[in-house]
Amino acid sequence: MNVLGIETSCDETGVAVYSTGTGGGEPGLRAHAVYSQIALHAEYGGVVPELASRDHVRKLLPLIRQTLAESDLAVADIDGVAYTAGPGLVGALLVGAGVARSLAWALDVPAIGVHHMEGHLLAPLMEDASTRPPFVALLVSGGHTQLVAVEAIGRYRLLGETLDDAAGEAFDKTAKMMDLPYPGGPQLAALAEQGQPGRFKFARPMTDRPGLDFSFSGLKTQVLLAWRDSDRAAQTKADIARAFEDAVVDTLAIKCERALDATGFDTLVIAGGVGANKRLRAKLQALAERRGGRASFPRPMFCTDNGAMIAFAGALRLQAGQHGDASVRVTPRWDMATLPEVA
Ligand code: ATP
Ligand code: MG
Ligand code: FE
Repeated sequence: MNVLGIETSCDETGVAVYSTGTGGGEPGLRAHAVYSQIALHAEYGGVVPELASRDHVRKLLPLIRQTLAESDLAVADIDGVAYTAGPGLVGALLVGAGVARSLAWALDVPAIGVHHMEGHLLAPLMEDASTRPPFVALLVSGGHTQLVAVEAIGRYRLLGETLDDAAGEAFDKTAKMMDLPYPGGPQLAALAEQGQPGRFKFARPMTDRPGLDFSFSGLKTQVLLAWRDSDRAAQTKADIARAFEDAVVDTLAIKCERALDATGFDTLVIAGGVGANKRLRAKLQALAERRGGRASFPRPMFCTDNGAMIAFAGALRLQAGQHGDASVRVTPRWDMATLPEVA
């Protein structure tokens, strides 16, 4: 089964073809492409929803043609279509849903609306088939910071989440405060590489009390004060970036360990854009090994938004016989716990 995946929830247009291997051939990703709108939104310092929708309209069909060509498939070889149906920007989601539903209708194949965070969560399984539930998933992206107990594919129990900013949002906002170019998260992480650890020290928020929730907005304020009162030299900037990154990484690691203890699971899965962070990857890898368990990450390009994770998550559900009706519907706010289990 060849599944076309379409991601348009925010400012990346992602398209991919995933083959399930049923009906012959090896299972795996046949082709994928991502077009990022970063340059379009840079002058505004953030994503402008209406511009995002219009750019998805412009890019989606060419990207589908390009991806099909790279996968050596004709449009008639597509057996199912998966698209992000939420959460995300309503206009952006509607572009992907409209194109996906139309294509499925024309080809007379099933289509399914995929939960964007389930896409992120399952990306490590697409990369490594030996990663299977049960596991604890740390979802760390631009809009979410959640710990989820994954008992089965589609059976998700929220263990804890951020009460304010998401980890990626904290990276982006902190970078902006320190005048790093948009979008700041990856730039701040790169700057932290040159920083000296320990020169600045920030709190590990909410680790001094039990529980699995997070809060990152106070950390941002601590950085702002440190930066404001500093000499603002290049090395100082790097040292503050390093201290910020260490605080976020430590906090995430402390809560991951608690979540593993609470569930008794030994596998930790990390997904979402902040999962691309090198220091976070190293820290969580070491944590899992120390406990005799394992940590599973997608390659960095599949941590941030992409069509491959949507094709893969959709393929699992389509294979199980799940699909939606022909109406074009999106769910901008959508609780992952309401998803059906994949039988
Ligand atoms: P959501 O998935 O919650 O809807 P999103 O789709 O915008 O949000 P992703 O594409 O998963 O988020 O991830 C983008 C986020 O990841 C940004 O906040 C970005 O700063 C952050 N990010 C990307 N690379 C790194 C890195 N190396 N270190 C830290 N943060 C990073
Ligand atoms: Mg993005
Ligand atoms: Fe995302």
